[in-house]
Amino acid sequence: MTAVLVVNSGSSSFKYQLIEMDSETTLASGLVERIGELMGQASHTVMAGVSRTGVTETVDVSAADAAASVSLHTSVSLVTETPYPESSTERELPIPDHTAGFAVMLEAFREHGPSLVEHVPVAVGHRVVHGGARFHEPTVITESVERDIDELSGLAPLHNPGALQGITAAIEAFPAVPHVAIFDTAFHQTLPPEAFTYAINADLAERFRIRRYGFHGTSHGFVARAAAEYLERPVEDVNQIVLHLGNGGSVCAVRAGRSVETSMGMTPLEGLVMGTRSGDIDPGVLFHLHRRAGLDVDELDVLLNRGSGLLGLTGRGDLRDVIVAADSGDGPSQLAIDVYVHRLKGYVGSYYAQLGRVDVISFTAGVGENSALVRARALEGLEALGIRIDPERNASRVRGPRRISADDSAVTVLVIPTNEELEIARQTLSKVG
Ligand code: AMP
Repeated sequence: MTAVLVVNSGSSSFKYQLIEMDSETTLASGLVERIGELMGQASHTVMAGVSRTGVTETVDVSAADAAASVSLHTSVSLVTETPYPESSTERELPIPDHTAGFAVMLEAFREHGPSLVEHVPVAVGHRVVHGGARFHEPTVITESVERDIDELSGLAPLHNPGALQGITAAIEAFPAVPHVAIFDTAFHQTLPPEAFTYAINADLAERFRIRRYGFHGTSHGFVARAAAEYLERPVEDVNQIVLHLGNGGSVCAVRAGRSVETSMGMTPLEGLVMGTRSGDIDPGVLFHLHRRAGLDVDELDVLLNRGSGLLGLTGRGDLRDVIVAADSGDGPSQLAIDVYVHRLKGYVGSYYAQLGRVDVISFTAGVGENSALVRARALEGLEALGIRIDPERNASRVRGPRRISADDSAVTVLVIPTNEELEIARQTLSKVG
């Protein structure tokens, strides 16, 4: 059996998944968070059927390890009829840095399984947000690659430093296996110059590497391949628009399996209206806020990245809450949904024009997979473009990839659950053979 460990690391937390690659099933997953705070948290979930101890009943245990001032809460819930239920454990303990975090993770594997001796990972795949123009494919991490990721922190100060901390700690924890970096930007390295160039002073742009890079590439690539598979057509023959709508959101135009246009830019701030990000805005607004409201550059950064989007418009950053409020007559929430779908529909039209012909439009991520309302409203009135949603199919909550367009719709519309961890594991394995 071949297993790959996938690590998605931020500056104060990391997520992991151990994936068995022959069947492409997740054996265990976990989250280590609040690293560097007084008290950290770690959760570890063992998937059904792979528990080391084979727990067969529901238990709820709380124990205190006074020596290490660790409190351990174990709750195991029966979720399927399989011999071993899915089990989750949670711990609270100080986790001063990522190295300590990986020690906690290894302990969770030892105590609760699955055994890393039986399922020794052949490689570790790391999600890295920004690969700049330097990285266009999965890359085995060497010291020079680490230096490059560090150097790219200037373009992604909120993301790359945390990824690097995770990489360093993971290499200490698994020194004998290759570590592979999978970049969110890599899939968009096929953008043509007319799509990635901003119309600003060319010398400045070159000196400061100002161009559009695009993000969510791992998800867009995964969904584009899955959509072609669903249609049983070679990806090379299909023109696609992928709508990744989560807390962050981006649109991608895919021709012959290659990204040719995407809505996020030099940073993940451009494009759609998001949970807390403004997306597209006239840059003149920033000059105005600086001159008239006295906001400095850091305040503007926080305003647009963390205090705008749905949150800025309504005080609520989660679309589910905004929809509930809109349904009960809240005016700002109704307007926020209008703004959200108006922007989205504009991108669909724009990318339709860029592609010339569209075969399939796919919705993915939290909003895309779950909100029939957003899907219906984003594509309503586009019958003249050959896009017709079937309301019953759209309302169905069946899991897995599914068609929501009507039989007479020239453009197929799909819902495809994204799986970035699996895609990272696949790319990692293909890199190390
Ligand atoms: P993600 O970033 O892909 O995990 O997506 C998370 C976001 O999906 C949340 O912030 C929610 O706003 C959104 N979401 C999840 N389920 C629904 C739903 N049924 N309706 C609207 N939004 C949803």
